[in-house]
Amino acid sequence: MAQTEPGDQEADRPAFEKRSLAAQAMGRIDPATRAVVPPLHLSTTFLRDPDNGYASGYSYARPDNATVRECEAVIAMLEEAPAAMLFGSGMAAAAAVFGSLAPGDHIVVPQVMYWGLRRWLGTEAPLRGWEVEAVAMDDLDALRAAIKPGRTKLAWIETPGNPLWTITDIRAAAEIVHGAGARLAIDSTAASPIHTRPLSLGADIVMHSATKILNGHSDVVAGVLATARLDATWERIGSIRSGSGAILGPFEAYLLMRGLRTLHLRVAAQSTAAAELAQRFRRHPGILAVLYPGLPEDPGHAVAARQMEGGFGFMLSIRVRAGEDAAIATAARVRLWKRATSLGGVESLIEHRASVEGAGSPCPPDLLRLSVGIESVEDLYADLDAALRMAG
Ligand code: PLP
Repeated sequence: MAQTEPGDQEADRPAFEKRSLAAQAMGRIDPATRAVVPPLHLSTTFLRDPDNGYASGYSYARPDNATVRECEAVIAMLEEAPAAMLFGSGMAAAAAVFGSLAPGDHIVVPQVMYWGLRRWLGTEAPLRGWEVEAVAMDDLDALRAAIKPGRTKLAWIETPGNPLWTITDIRAAAEIVHGAGARLAIDSTAASPIHTRPLSLGADIVMHSATKILNGHSDVVAGVLATARLDATWERIGSIRSGSGAILGPFEAYLLMRGLRTLHLRVAAQSTAAAELAQRFRRHPGILAVLYPGLPEDPGHAVAARQMEGGFGFMLSIRVRAGEDAAIATAARVRLWKRATSLGGVESLIEHRASVEGAGSPCPPDLLRLSVGIESVEDLYADLDAALRMAG
């Protein structure tokens, strides 16, 4: 890590905290200009050396890019990983993990998961010869029972799981999965590397839709994987990214790196606000239930308290007591919350998920998904309270 000035005694210096490294995007100073914010590398091609080699390590922009690498270094640091790889979207990152599997492989996935990935697997798995089995991942016995030793090659988990915020015990799942010789990959988008570091709990690969809290400003579509080790699977995933042209563009990587500088502040503020709203909404007469792992009565709370640090995330869902029509009417009547899909941005979003997820979704029709941003908690509460009262 280029953190030092010439003459510094690096060995004698204390290690910096992650938030310090992220705030400075690893603190690299551009050697040519001494710029504190690194330049954006847009070139798609690079001059060959007279000896026919590429000593810089760059030859063409589809396999690799310097701005992408700089951004990957920040995420690898946050995930305590030896390497991270950026993709053009969260779906492209997930697809690369599944793409490393072979026909005939058995895969276990959660019943509660990002609906787009469930739908993609539903289309792709039969074409590619993968056998996909969905289990209730908050029930470790169900996971154990689903594993087929020798045939199961991958278990995919998502915790907290979108949109019910179901919690899976990562450490216990890793033990079960590894015991059968399979790998554990995790969609950790809703936890962020601030609340959970899945690799330290035994996961092999962690994935984020970086479109969400990592970027945080709803202006970049990106995905990332971080690995526990530099092995043949990681190499294969790298060749899938390069061969299929799934790398993130440099401008998006630059914006994402800017977002990462404030990740700690945003996650702290958004999770604190989500926890406060969850507490207040659980007493609201118009709300049947609040789904949030930070609430003591939540079925996932004990595990979440063990594996999440510094909060329980910025996502929660509410079930509207008067039913589906009232839920849709509530979303229609808010003024500050924005009626839109996605999550993790600084602006708070509300969405009637059943309308989006369609058949096969475990999402109840009266559910509204809330992504909590950085606005005033009082304003957010008052706006939704007024909408609930008008709708109910
Ligand atoms: N995983 C989760 C939990 C998501 O919410 C999303 C997108 O909403 C994805 C994965 C897919 O990410 P992207 O939209 O960046 O492809």
